[in-house]
Amino acid sequence: MKRIGVLTSGGDSPGMNAAIRAVVRKAIYHDIEVYGIYYGYAGLIAGDIKKMELGSVGDIIHRGGTMLYTARCEEFKTLEGQKKGIEQLNKFGIEGLVVIGGDGSYRGAQKLTEHGFPTIGVPGTIDNDIPGTDFTIGFDTALNTVIDAIDKIRDTATSHERTYIIEVMGRHAGDLALWSGLADGAETILIPEAEYDFEQITYRLKRGQERGKKHSIIIVAEGAGSGMEFGQKLKEATNMETRVTVLGHIQRGGSPTGADRVLASRLGAKAVDLLLEGKSGVTVGIQQNKLVHHDINEALAETHTVDLDMYTLSQELSI
Ligand code: ADP
Repeated sequence: MKRIGVLTSGGDSPGMNAAIRAVVRKAIYHDIEVYGIYYGYAGLIAGDIKKMELGSVGDIIHRGGTMLYTARCEEFKTLEGQKKGIEQLNKFGIEGLVVIGGDGSYRGAQKLTEHGFPTIGVPGTIDNDIPGTDFTIGFDTALNTVIDAIDKIRDTATSHERTYIIEVMGRHAGDLALWSGLADGAETILIPEAEYDFEQITYRLKRGQERGKKHSIIIVAEGAGSGMEFGQKLKEATNMETRVTVLGHIQRGGSPTGADRVLASRLGAKAVDLLLEGKSGVTVGIQQNKLVHHDINEALAETHTVDLDMYTLSQELSI
């Protein structure tokens, strides 16, 4: 293999730049040329492709977002779109591709593999919802952003003795809500993977108030329902003063944490190694702190599971 490509696709996450840098540097280290494909699969179809040098990825390891930009592209879900993408790869003489993104991006990579084009998936999403890896690139940064926001809300919550509801990202996975809730001692955490008992929640909140708790913090993963609606419901049922904060896109940005930079560097470099070994249709990941790879079909057939023991623990510690 003499020339590979790299793209980022779907939702961005902090650390994608560190992963791009690792792909580019590791490839050049092995005397392989690297081409950057801009705007994900949309740029692949359009031929928005440029050669990258060592210096192309200088000074990006600490930056959030993705220097290759990202996009969502409906056309790539069609056979015609995929064929156009492969034509562009052939036109540029690219022989293997690294796709950094979430499970949607993995499906695109799976299609390229099915058409015989060597493709490796690297997990980049703040949701931590990709099977085949314990952690995705961006999760740790988003977790720390959420913790920072909750710490600030906690200060004002103590002053005002209110109940604060904080909605965090996670349409299908409760990891961000669960980890941030545990890290911040939230009274209640609502995640899509577990049903909640509203009576039990109000009982616990009142019991906490009675024993002198100054405030309560409730974290709602967006996949578990709307924070606004939950706040309204709680107010009507208990007469408590409630305030709702929807953290939104600040969770996607920011300089990646050390953990995310290291993870991204390891996974990006591993993807290049796998291409050089002749692998195709695999995803890289980290499990029990070891680099691993899995068949992309198997990874996509699995469902990510949240750690329900941690969920129980969070409830035990916030009585
Ligand atoms: P993420 O990768 O963050 O999960 P999306 O689900 O939006 O983000 O997927 C990103 C892109 O991956 C889509 O816009 C599309 O171009 C491509 N993609 C998603 N699903 C498929 C599919 N079934 N076949 C081919 N390409 C797909």
